[in-house]
Formats: sequence, C-alpha cells, structure tokens
Amino acid sequence: KGVEFGDRTALAALIDETRAPAPPPDARPSVESRAAARPVLSPIDGAVVGHVVEADEAAAHAAVATAVRAFPGWSRTPFEARARMIERAADLIEERRGPLIALLQSEGGKTLDDALAEVREAADLCRYYAAQARILCPDMPLPGPTGEANVLRRHGRGVFICISPWNFPLAIFIGQVAAALVAGNCVIAKPAEQTPLVAAMAIDLLRQSGVPKDALQFTPGDGAIGAALVADPLTAGVVFTGSVEVAQRINRTLAERDGAIAPLIAETGGINAMIVDSTALIEQVVDDVMTSAFRSAGQRCSALRLLCVQEEIAPACLETLIGAARELRVGDPREIGTHVGPAIDAEAKDKLDAYLLRQRAAGRILYAGVAPSTGTFVAPHIVRLDRVEDLQEEIFGPVLHVATWRSERLPQLLTDIEAVGYGLTIGMHTRIEQRIRALSRKASAGNIYVNRNMIGAVVGSQPFGGFGLSGTGPKAGGPDYLLRFLHETTLTINTASSG
Ligand code: NAD
Repeated sequence: KGVEFGDRTALAALIDETRAPAPPPDARPSVESRAAARPVLSPIDGAVVGHVVEADEAAAHAAVATAVRAFPGWSRTPFEARARMIERAADLIEERRGPLIALLQSEGGKTLDDALAEVREAADLCRYYAAQARILCPDMPLPGPTGEANVLRRHGRGVFICISPWNFPLAIFIGQVAAALVAGNCVIAKPAEQTPLVAAMAIDLLRQSGVPKDALQFTPGDGAIGAALVADPLTAGVVFTGSVEVAQRINRTLAERDGAIAPLIAETGGINAMIVDSTALIEQVVDDVMTSAFRSAGQRCSALRLLCVQEEIAPACLETLIGAARELRVGDPREIGTHVGPAIDAEAKDKLDAYLLRQRAAGRILYAGVAPSTGTFVAPHIVRLDRVEDLQEEIFGPVLHVATWRSERLPQLLTDIEAVGYGLTIGMHTRIEQRIRALSRKASAGNIYVNRNMIGAVVGSQPFGGFGLSGTGPKAGGPDYLLRFLHETTLTINTASSG
C-alpha cells in the first residue's frame, strides 16, 4: 500500500479553483515606509510570487502610535459587532479559498491537502474565537451582600503585537490576529519574512470584513522589525509563535521594558517522540509515522522527530518503515501525489543538509530518499539515534530519528524524553491499557496522541500548545485562549446609596 496523505479525488476538484484569476499579490505596511519593494521568491522554483514593501523601524513605531490612538474607539465597539466582523472574515476566507490555496502553495511550498487544511483551520479559528468572545465578553454578575452589586467586566488590554512563523502563514497569522481583535485589542501584525503575501491577503479580508484600518496595522519585515515592536513600551502584549530562542529573546525584552507589565503568549517548537511497543500493529504504526514525520516536509512544530521502538519489533518495524519511505514522492507540491514539498528557503535547506552530512559522517543514516536537485528540496531521511538525550535540537524538516528501548526501560525512556525540556506532543502505539494510563499521567506534553498519527490541532476539539520550552499556554483553539488577551475589571457598586 502506498503512502497517502490526502483524498485525491477531492483535491483534484480543487485544482481549478486555485487557477482562478487573483489580483497580483503585493504586501505593503499600513504606514508609509522608506524600504524598497523586495521580490518574494517561491521555494518551489525560485519564481517571483509577488513583492513586499517592508516596514522600517520608523514605520513600525508609527504603526504602534496609530493603533494606540485607535484603541479607545475599537475597544468601545460592542463585542457582538467585533465577533460579526471576525465571522465575516471566516466567510471571506472560504469564498477566496482558491487564491489563498494558490498562494499557500507558491509562497509557502505547501501541498494541496496541507493548503486546504490550513484554509479550513483559518476559518475555524475565526469562528471559534468569535463564539468565545460571546461567552467571555458579556458583563458577568458576581455574588455579593445585599446592597452591593458586583460585576466582572472584560475588555481589551491595548495594542497587541502578533508575530507569526512561515509554516502556517495563514492559520496561525489570522488566528492570533482574530483572537486579539475580537477581545477588543488593536493589533500590529508582523508576519514571517518568508510569507508576507498570504498575510497581506488575510489583512485585506479582515479589512473587507469591517475591521478599521487604524485598529489593524500590518508591518511586514524581518526579525529586527519584530524586535523593534516588542521594545515599544506603548504596546500592551505580545502573542508569538516561532522558535524557542526568539521567544526567550522577546521575554527578556519585555522584562526589561519600562512601563506597564506586558504578557507574552508563546507557542514554540518541540522534539516530539512516539513510543511503540511490541503489542502495536506495525502497519498502522508505519502509516502514522509517515504522516507524522513527513507530512508538510516535517515543517510542523508537532511533527514526529523521534521514534522509540521496543527492541523486539525494531527490525521488522524499520524494514516496513523504510519500504514506506521509498514510496514518498518529493517534488512540486502543486502536483497531486506529491507527499513532500520543499524546505521553506535556501537557509533552511542548508541547515538541514549540514545536519544530515554530520549524521552521514557518523554512520547514522538508515535511509536517504531522493529529491529534485533544483529548488530547496530536502530528501526524506531516517537517522539512527543511540540515546534519546542525543537529540537536543529541533530538526525542522523531513528527518526521522529512530531509537530502540527494552521493556524494563520504559519508565526511564519517558524520563529521558521529558529531560530534553520540550513538552509539545508525544505519541504512543500500544495495546496495553496500563501503558496508556501511565503515559497520560506522566508525560509532560501539551498534546498526547495514542494509537494514531500526531497531526492534531483541531479547533475546539483538540486545542493545541505545549509547556516547558514549547510555550506558555493557553492552548490555541481552546476555551481559555481569549482570556490572556483580556483585562478584567471588577466593578463594585453600593446600590443602597446609589438609589
Ligand atoms: P522564528 O522564531 O525564526 O520566527 C518567527 C517570527 O519571529 C518571524 O516572524 C520572525 O521574523 C520573528 N522574529 C525573529 N527574530 C525576532 C526578534 N528578535 N524579535 C521579535 N520577532 C522576531 O521561527 P520560524 O522559523 O518562522 O518558525 C519555525 C518555528 O516555529 C519552529 O521552531 C516551530 O516549531 C515553531 N512553531 C511552533 C508552533 C506551535 O504552535 N507551537 C506552530 C508553528 C511553528
């Protein structure tokens, strides 16, 4: 049986939609910037997808100042009106899914099924946060003695900075922005430098939905622009998704800033493991490993990095795994049947190639696939790992590490995985109920997957996010997410003397 990541018939029907004529993509900051237009190149073939005018530091601070001025008006807009705007954005995302998918593919290098899933997630996040605002934002009467009225009132905090990564340039970008806006904050949206065009389209849809321009500022640019925004004491909070190193840097800047204490909501990386014991069904394990490790070319924070197989079944498991890996098609993600698209850019490819070269020199390569020699493609690899502790770095690409374990060492294995410090996702394949219970009690990971693949993050039903080095919480797409974007005021009135 070949590797299958998506429903081919449904995807074939989508291809025509992605050819629908779209206006030429272009991204420019909300506030005038002196930076020159820069071409955005496709990771598939280096073609120019569109142009971006990036914000310079002056434009970034001007955007903050504009948003600060817009805050009183936007925060007074009733939450019901804000929720309707965000829902309208969800409708527009669905209406414009053809051009959005085309851009997710050409700019982000996504396969058709990944791009379609991302468009759906983006619309789901908008609808979910709009619904949560209706639950969380109305005034909440609180109990108190006779002659006293107590009310809990929730409102926006001020200007929120939203900083997003390139690997979900639509869903994570618009999820952050929608949450901050619907809670009554003004927003400065800073997309990843690799994917400003999808972000610009999302901004356009939000504005078409009625979000005022001043309340939603767009500042495309690189990390330096992100850093300038974070350092601006007029901003009230930061929501960030990306690498742990950058999250730590942002944390330090916020801690050293003068003025009000601003929160950081961070979702970062993971070194995600799947534990397989000798009772597992090897066919199912291999299917799930293929999807978890190689879908999106391994460029997902939740992707499986480390497969831990019980010694007794390791040879059979590895043989089936390598057989399945040989079936992976690497190439142009716009073609149906492609499983693995390109690395996002030349820098990411070079980093992966250098890592794989080191593994080859150490004699640890168990399987190396093939990839086109043009563009930024990286072939799928399987790498042997002698000790779980040897993997300390998030390898963000189509590279699966395999280690083996002996039955009596299972508790130690869980301890070793935890000791790495990340806590995003962990998976287990077993038919022993006691092990499932032990995993759910012991594993410190935000998302645990049992007897299935590790592709989750379903809005509302599988809220996503980790702890430790993997992030601060609360979970995106979960019931508490909006709370971190809200200030709470308790209003106490002496009703006896107020008449
Ligand atoms: P990155 O940290 O390099 O960049 C993320 C964003 O931060 C970009 O917009 C970048 O311009 C900006 N940035 C860079 N330096 C900055 C600074 N000093 N101050 C402020 N902003 C700065 O990450 P990436 O390469 O874009 O994304 C991949 C990473 O994101 C991986 O580690 C992955 O695991 C993680 N990720 C996590 C989740 C999650 O939900 N936990 C989801 C997707 C991606």
